[in-house]
Amino acid sequence: MKTRFVACPTCGTSAPWDPDNRFRPFCSERCKMIDLGAWATERYRVPVAESDDADLSDESGEGITPRPN
Ligand SMILES: [Zn+2]
Repeated sequence: MKTRFVACPTCGTSAPWDPDNRFRPFCSERCKMIDLGAWATERYRVPVAESDDADLSDESGEGITPRPN
């Protein structure tokens, strides 16, 4: 049996694609975490919209509604 290799999405290193590699398609846990972290960062960045109006400052608090999800 031959082990297949895939390019790690994070660093591009050839990572073995087999059941022993539980981080596949990543080459290591580190790369997996980096990728997931980048993904989470993208998500959190989306809702942040900067307004041109400086009128809405901390005093009103409107528009900034923290949601758990
Ligand atoms: Zn990697």
